[in-house]
Amino acid sequence: MNYQELANLIFPNAKPIGLYEEKYPERNLPEGAIVTRFAPSPTGFVHIGGLYQSLVAKTVAKQTGGVFFLRVEDTDQKRQIANAVTDIVNSLKDFDMAPDEGMISDTEEIGNYGPYTQSWRKEIYQAYAKYLIEQGKAYPCFATPEELEEMRQKQEAAKIRPGYYGVWAKYRNLPVEEAAEKIKNREPYIIRFKSMGREDKKIKHKDIIKGNVDFPENDQDIVIIKADGLPTYHFAHAVDDHLMHTTHVIRGDEWLSSVPLHLQLFQELGFKAPRYAHISPIMKNEDGNKRKLSKRKDPEAAVSYYKEEGIPSVAVKEYLLNIANSSFENWRRANPDSPMEEFPFDLAKMSVSGALFDMVKLLDISKTAISKMTAEEVYEKSIEWANEYDKELAELLSDKAYSLKVLGIERGNNKPRKDISKWSEVKNAIIYMYDKEFLAKEHNFEYGKINDKQEIQKILSTYMEKYFDIHDDKQTWFDKMKDLAEELGYAREVKMFKQEPEKWPGHVGDISTVLRVSLTGRQNTPDLYEIMQVLGEESIQKRMKEVKSLWNIK
Ligand code: GLU
Repeated sequence: MNYQELANLIFPNAKPIGLYEEKYPERNLPEGAIVTRFAPSPTGFVHIGGLYQSLVAKTVAKQTGGVFFLRVEDTDQKRQIANAVTDIVNSLKDFDMAPDEGMISDTEEIGNYGPYTQSWRKEIYQAYAKYLIEQGKAYPCFATPEELEEMRQKQEAAKIRPGYYGVWAKYRNLPVEEAAEKIKNREPYIIRFKSMGREDKKIKHKDIIKGNVDFPENDQDIVIIKADGLPTYHFAHAVDDHLMHTTHVIRGDEWLSSVPLHLQLFQELGFKAPRYAHISPIMKNEDGNKRKLSKRKDPEAAVSYYKEEGIPSVAVKEYLLNIANSSFENWRRANPDSPMEEFPFDLAKMSVSGALFDMVKLLDISKTAISKMTAEEVYEKSIEWANEYDKELAELLSDKAYSLKVLGIERGNNKPRKDISKWSEVKNAIIYMYDKEFLAKEHNFEYGKINDKQEIQKILSTYMEKYFDIHDDKQTWFDKMKDLAEELGYAREVKMFKQEPEKWPGHVGDISTVLRVSLTGRQNTPDLYEIMQVLGEESIQKRMKEVKSLWNIK
């Protein structure tokens, strides 16, 4: 019996690997094109770190005319979750990051290098495992869990490196006849890689992000095919990224220490190794200590959080680019209106240690992004969010023509309003503009400096009787506010007041606060003139009546 016969006994139906090599030819892409992927396990939870990796991967693929694909790594069948793939696909779509190839739902895929779900590739892995067995580079291992446990205990007691290697690799040199005998007797087994590496030898590796790293060679005979016939991550990674012609493996840095093993697998399989870029995890500051963003502790670790909160996907992406390349911030300052896709992203400039997640900064970026949107865009995005998460807001927005006017206040100018950082803030930012809600609310107006009922009455009545005209342009309106201030004994300019504060009870700003609070219920709002224009005469009259009745003003 030889290796060939043993391989046939183990995988009688596996096809020659030449078939797959032919089926998945070199890709026809421009020089320097990066082919890369997002390869999540479908656990039912899409972590912001996954989105971050995908953004980096998609960006470099796009910038080089390459390919970004989505591969589902579901070889751990114990962890299967219904709809998990659809969740991943939809998350990418929500962020406008749909892959060029790969899974597009739990059951469908696009592209010529599939299947893109590992559990559908069983025969491919088995073909390559068979190929290794034929060459004496892999073998069946019959170790029982008890045997492995005994080995572990012995290694621990003797304080030596744990694992299945060297003299500990009990079935590594089992004669093929004996192996065949056991298989025929239906003894359970798995397939292990026969490592030729030596722990006392070093390999040098250059990671695109982490730079030069030295590792001992791998000498562990790792499992490549498990008892259920599916591959381990390591083996699937080598086979898939070879056949899918991945040029760059961009993944979490928890895999960095597996690089020696992966390079060895590529070499023994006769594959060209890809370049590796290991991304540091996104960190969080907790009581002065840095820790990874945690699925259990941090709601913002879930990609779904951003959708639920209504943080626009462009803002999340822009923020992630910010932490991916520190030069982004300067670039943005120099190119305030360019689409972020134009930023010259550099994989090699990603930080070696984990970037800190900063929600305040993200919301600030979001505020700026929203301030640059047109009223129409804000309207469409808000109503889309509201339809799913806030019926009351959806109701407000159902009057589209009026809502567009409301959202258009202080928008489209040089200094647009910046009071909205997420769609879940829209309701609070605009609700006072709607008569139905405003007039139904029980108000407890909090005025500013001028807080005396009689004085407020005087200001409002004088304004409405002598100065109010909805047709005034802004300058006229403003001049009238000053005239009103002066008539009632206040400083007509803030500057004048500041010079001699003892001379007046207040200034024009205090007068307009009285008007603002009476009309909106708030001391801080966007431009009052614009607000009044949008409200219109009828609404202003109604609101004035409301204030007067509230204050018992006749
Ligand atoms: N399935 C692996 C993970 O989720 C993928 C690592 C890789 O990108 O190769 O960590």
